[in-house]
Amino acid sequence: MRAIVAGAGIGGLTTALSLHAAGMDALVIDSASSLRPLGVGINLLPHAVRELTELGLGDELAATGIPTAEWCTLTGTATGSGGSPAASSWATTGRNTPFTGASCR
Ligand SMILES: Cc1cc2nc3c(=O)[nH]c(=O)nc-3n(C[C@H](O)[C@H](O)[C@H](O)COP(=O)(O)OP(=O)(O)OC[C@H]3O[C@@H](n4cnc5c(N)ncnc54)[C@H](O)[C@@H]3O)c2cc1C
Repeated sequence: MRAIVAGAGIGGLTTALSLHAAGMDALVIDSASSLRPLGVGINLLPHAVRELTELGLGDELAATGIPTAEWCTLTGTATGSGGSPAASSWATTGRNTPFTGASCR
């Protein structure tokens, strides 16, 4: 049996690899005519890393990625001044953020 996966984003590619691991052939199609790098960083959360590692991509991830050293979840009332660009923009939008220092510790 051969599956057709529509969309070559992380969801489609992961689905195709999962099908392959289960012994099923998969054809991935995408409406985009070419794949281009965006030049941005992607933060992979632990469950995503686990899934990709289970699909045999652990070594490639280790070779191309940088392990997360610290993770901050900012909550509370916006203070609005200084801080990081993220803190400023969150303050502007009125969401979260009493970000007062360079570290979340
Ligand atoms: C600026 C930005 C930053 C982000 N940063 C992060 C991050 O750091 N960490 C993180 O985990 N997530 C991040 N995300 C979210 C993450 O990019 C998405 O959750 C993820 O890409 C979704 O994957 P997907 O495969 O479901 O969809 P997509 O990546 O959107 O892929 C869908 C694919 O399907 C194709 N397609 C659409 N319609 C059709 C069709 N009819 N036929 C064939 N192909 C079709 C599209 O061309 C596309 O390639 C970010 C998103 C944005 C916009």
